[in-house]
Amino acid sequence: MIYELQIGTNAKTELLDITSKVQKLIQDINFQNGICTIFVPHTTAAITINENADSTVKEDMLMELNKVIPFNDNYQHLEGNSAAHIKSTLVGCSQQIIIKEGNLVLGTWQGIYFCEFDGPRKRKIKLKLISE
Ligand code: ZN
Repeated sequence: MIYELQIGTNAKTELLDITSKVQKLIQDINFQNGICTIFVPHTTAAITINENADSTVKEDMLMELNKVIPFNDNYQHLEGNSAAHIKSTLVGCSQQIIIKEGNLVLGTWQGIYFCEFDGPRKRKIKLKLISE
């Protein structure tokens, strides 16, 4: 079984903390111990794990990504969103997280971020849970 979360993003580039949504899904299906693979089935979005205590960290990450990969740079792709495709590949479209006794095993300051690079849009996140 593959589970799915649906989210709406609000900006052209944005990091959305989805940790509580993933944790709720794990609790709702009473999953206890194993591995959760989180996969983003989009070519202009990504998933990452980073600090969720100080929200300025995600703003700094976006600022630097937007600096390193500018929105306009004589790209050939006619859709006009090459920067988003490049960011998606750099950040990556999946993460694996250990689940122990029904809880995500994350560091104290870690959260799971859905990374929007070509929003705002409706987006899907796929989750596969494998028991130990
Ligand atoms: Zn495109």
